[in-house]
Amino acid sequence: MKRREVLIFVAVLLASAILALLATLSLRQWEVSAERRLHEQARDMASMVAEKIETAVLKTEDEGLGSLQLTALDPHFAPEMVDAWKARTPFFDRFYLFDRHGKLLYPRRSNSSDAAMLAGLRAEISPGFWDRGGQRHIQLGDQVALVAVIQGSPQGPLLAVLHRSEQGLRRDILEKTLAGLEGQSLLAVLDGSDRPIYTARPLGRAQHVLSVDFGEALPAWRLALYEPAGLSPRDAVRRQAMLFTAVFILLLGVIAFGLAATYRLVRRESEMARLKSDFVANVSHDLKTPLALIRMFAETLEMDRVPDEVSRREYYGVITRESERLTRLIDNVLDFSRIEGGRQRYDMAPGHVEPIVHEVLEAFRYPLAQQGFKVDVHVEPDLPEVRLDPEAMKQALANLVDNAIKYSGEGRRLDVTARREGKDVCIAVSDDGIGIPPREQQRIFEKFYRIGRSETQGRRGSGVGLALVKHIVEAHGGRVTVESGPGEGSRFTLHVPLPRDV
Ligand code: ADP
Repeated sequence: MKRREVLIFVAVLLASAILALLATLSLRQWEVSAERRLHEQARDMASMVAEKIETAVLKTEDEGLGSLQLTALDPHFAPEMVDAWKARTPFFDRFYLFDRHGKLLYPRRSNSSDAAMLAGLRAEISPGFWDRGGQRHIQLGDQVALVAVIQGSPQGPLLAVLHRSEQGLRRDILEKTLAGLEGQSLLAVLDGSDRPIYTARPLGRAQHVLSVDFGEALPAWRLALYEPAGLSPRDAVRRQAMLFTAVFILLLGVIAFGLAATYRLVRRESEMARLKSDFVANVSHDLKTPLALIRMFAETLEMDRVPDEVSRREYYGVITRESERLTRLIDNVLDFSRIEGGRQRYDMAPGHVEPIVHEVLEAFRYPLAQQGFKVDVHVEPDLPEVRLDPEAMKQALANLVDNAIKYSGEGRRLDVTARREGKDVCIAVSDDGIGIPPREQQRIFEKFYRIGRSETQGRRGSGVGLALVKHIVEAHGGRVTVESGPGEGSRFTLHVPLPRDV
């Protein structure tokens, strides 16, 4: 990697790390404030419900007391009339009525525990309260009593002590207030020892979130708010935080992936730019060499400096060969540019591969002979016809033969075979040359790709030959394969599919 690439890489990594740190910090902060907000909402809701219950209790008590006052104001009031009132007002289960002298008017008899309680009560009632009148709540043992002075009765001021019945409270207040209220949260009324007295729904494994006090009407009790397991504000926040973390990790993953992809792309682009400039240099060199030869031999012939007929024929031969090589090279480049531009067309028609093999080898007869190649050609007799573009197929095969010559190394052998293999006709070109390492065997078919300079040093080439071979054979519905190893020679095979009915 270049220094600049390393710097960019480190910068992006650093930016991602800072981003991750900031995200973690703000997530923590968000968690805390979200939890606090949810808690406040829960508290608001519980307080509102507690207030509603308290108001309902006070209202029911006021109503009960109002109707009692009416009874007491009756000119013929007698304590027995209270029985009828009591029957109408089941909200109170115990009821006592005193006159100003502390005499118990109702009920007629009291048991001993009542007597103790009433003694305590009398101590709490000041003369001022008798004069002022009104009502208040007094805690008597574990009970709350409503105490009220009733003025204007024929029997003088009376003191009423009312105990609400727990059942009445449950039925008339709690059920009515709590039933319609609950969403997913559960509300419970707890007694002084935090034992649930009333819940609209069973608590099960619900988690206690918070409790709030009632007012003076229910001093020892509290209203508690529960959330079903897994739905408490903390759980909800934790779930959201986990979701956020997962999304963030995904985001970091995408950034990392994007970084890697960009890095690959940049490397590919710069590699491609290098290959392209190599290509231009190679093609120019490839064009120059045959042109120089042609020119040299043509000039020698022109000046009549050739000693004998044999040499003259040889010179003509060189000119022809080199111009053929030029044609092949230019054809390769032009076809390649047509393929790149998507303009390459193939004229497919049924045909035999045998003449193609022979024509190509004929074209290379001179260089093969000159370089001392031992050539073996074997075309299976009666090979069926295949659909092909003869010129394109010749070009593909010529490229393979050209490479076999170019990369022959010491082993000067060329085998060309054509035979049927299953549903294909296979044309294979084998050499005893320098071979190709396995890791390069895919890449050599890429455009402009040439194996490291050391191996190809001195061997001319543009790097588009095999790309062209691949394109041509694939256009025929076939494929090209290679079997090779360094120093073991190579075998390139063109697999051309047979028509379906053969
Ligand atoms: P070039 O113009 O370089 O020959 P090709 O596309 O024809 O381009 O081949 C790509 C590379 O594959 C060559 O540069 C060479 O390294 C390797 N190659 C192709 N054919 C052979 C072969 N028969 N033996 C060894 N190496 C080969």
